[in-house]
Parts: sequence; C-alpha cells; structure tokens
Amino acid sequence: MWLRRWWVLALIGVLGLLGPVARAQEGTAPITIEGVALRQVLDAPVPLYLTASIDDARARWMRDAMAIALQEVPRLTGLALPQQRLEFYLFSDPREMATLSSQLLRAPGPRVAPECFALAASGTPRRGIYCQADGWESAAQALDYVAHELTHQVEQGDSPQRRDLAQWFNEGLAEHVQQLVVRERYPAYAARDRWLREARVASALHTERLPRLGDLTSNARWQQAAAGGWAGLIYAHSSLVVDWLAGQYGLDRVVEVVRRTGAPLRFDEVFHEVFGLSVAEAEQGARAAFEAELLPRYPRGLSVFESDEPGEKAVYFAVVGFQPREWLTKEYRYADGAPADGVGATGTQPDSDRTDLSGFATWRWTRTGALPPGQPPRVELTVRGSAGSTATQSATLPTVP
Ligand SMILES: [Zn+2]
Repeated sequence: MWLRRWWVLALIGVLGLLGPVARAQEGTAPITIEGVALRQVLDAPVPLYLTASIDDARARWMRDAMAIALQEVPRLTGLALPQQRLEFYLFSDPREMATLSSQLLRAPGPRVAPECFALAASGTPRRGIYCQADGWESAAQALDYVAHELTHQVEQGDSPQRRDLAQWFNEGLAEHVQQLVVRERYPAYAARDRWLREARVASALHTERLPRLGDLTSNARWQQAAAGGWAGLIYAHSSLVVDWLAGQYGLDRVVEVVRRTGAPLRFDEVFHEVFGLSVAEAEQGARAAFEAELLPRYPRGLSVFESDEPGEKAVYFAVVGFQPREWLTKEYRYADGAPADGVGATGTQPDSDRTDLSGFATWRWTRTGALPPGQPPRVELTVRGSAGSTATQSATLPTVP
C-alpha cells in the first residue's frame, strides 16, 4: 500500500523536473534537526534536506536522482526498499558533511571524505543517504552516487542484523546496479565510466597490481586500501568482477547471495552454494576473462575516450600500464606539428601529473586555442614518464568551440 502511494510521489518528483528553474529554492521550507539549520525540499519523493549553500541545480540533481533511483534500484535488483523511512541529506563539501553529519547523527562521521555514504543499519535513527555536492558536475553524476548508495540500502533491507557481505561484493554490486541505472538515462556518462573502469583494471593487469579479492573482505581492509591510494582500482575491479558474475550467472543469482548471507551461513559459504565455485575460483575466472578482453583493447600506453555527449568539449586520456608513481610530462600537437593549447584540469578534478600505484593516470583535456586553419580537428598527445615510459596517441577533438 505504502509503496503505491510512494510511487505517485516519485512521479511528482520527476514531473517537478519540468518546473521553472528556481523551483528547488522556492519549494523548500526551513527545518532544524539536532540544532542544524537545513532546508527541506517539499516536492522530493522522500525527505531531502539541504544546507543553505546548496544551489538550485544541485538540489534538483539530487531530487531527480532520488526519484529515479528509488524506482529503479528495487526494480533491477528485486530487493525491496526498507520499510523504515529513509532520509537524504545534501551538503556542499566534505568538511560540511563531516561536521554536520556528526552533529545530526550525534556520532563521529566517516573518517575519510567520501562523496556520499549510506547509513543503512536497520533501526538506526536517520537511516539514509548523506552526500556532498562539491565534485558534482552533472545530473548523471548525482544519479551515479545516489543509485550506488541506495543499493546498499536495499542490500540491507529490513534485516535487523548487518549483512556480512564481503566488502568487495558489497561495493561491486552497488557499482554494478549504479551502472545499469545510469546507462538508461545517461548513456554517454555511463560509457565513459565503463572506459575508466576497464582501463584501470587493464593497467593493473599490465603492472601485476590487481588487488586480491580475499584481501578486501572486511570493511576495515577496504577502507585501508581506499585511503592508501587504491580507491579507484578496488571499486573498478570489484565492479567488473560483479559484472562478470552477473554476465555468467545472472543478476538474480548475485542478488540471491545478498538475500541468503547472514546467520547461519557466512558469505563465502553462500557464494559457493549459489555459484558452485569459491571466491578464489570466481576471481580466477574473472581474471582470465579480463585478460582476454581488456589487454588487447587497452595495451600499455595511452587510451583515449572521445565522448559523444552533447556539448562535450573535452577529450579524455588515460595512461595504462606505465610504472607506478611516474611523473608525467605531456605534449599536445596539431596534425601540422604546431603546439596545441588546452587545459588539462577543470573544476575540482585536478590534472593528473603522476601515475598511481598501478601505473595508471587519467585526465581530460580541453582545447583553448583556435584550430590552425585547414587542419583537421585532431590532437596528438605524447606522454613521457619519469621512469622512462612513453606513449603517443592521437584523438579527434570535439568541434564545440
Ligand atoms: Zn559503497
């Protein structure tokens, strides 16, 4: 019954998209929770609270992401939303999220500064999703984070005990579902996200730096690896392993592992029963598939992603399989050999001038100078690493001025 009513509310949220631009701010009411002054978005499908500094665009992205994810995540997974009310909070940056969320929760917030976190334990006050919009650049990105966190909520569901899923599986499934949700609405964003994951994993295969799933079972180990510079790779790898499982056995079997994990059976035992193979065997199978599919598509060197997103102005580059922690120098030239002017960093995503621990780096590049007359809209990039790696690749430039 409540689900049905809720569906109508979700629809209202989507229709709200068509409203005037200033709607999010107009449609809010002040509210104070645990001494924190917030604004509640009145037309959100479930409670959404913003801090004063959130602009209208980000408020809309969040509200629309919620409306979509609240429908799509349960539909795709077959896992119901918890009966308990979920609250959504949007802060403007990591600092604000850390301070205010700990005040709201009367407990220390997360030690690291994630984009979002889910408070998914059953029965906790203010169960919900907490995000900060500092790095958000698009509605697609908001949906990416919200769909990921909502997957954690349906994984836990109404189970009173914390589901003891291996953390790689937990995060990999959240990423898998996120990609399914985002792909339908924002295919260009999803394609770039996919490219990034594949290039990262290919890089780690080249440099023998792919982390072992068995080392990423506990949340503590996961956090440790993420804080130690492996965040991009462990999320990418775990999500590709879950993609592989879903491709081989079906998403319903993957979800069955979620449903059945908990007392009396442990994750490893359930995993073995459902798939007929151990985690280590699945890891081997997935790895063989990655080697066959990814290594030819992402050889050592430079990989280019040319987005067909409407209005896209940048080209995306990745260095694959260089030495770990190499300093990079980059040289951009037009077809006639003339240097090409551009910016490698925009917004909150800094330009990458060094490879990570798996020999990987990624950045985007936007042309700032005029194309030389009569030249094709192409740029040739040469990257040299401080440990001697080098690669050259050319890319088609978007024609957007
Ligand atoms: Zn997560």
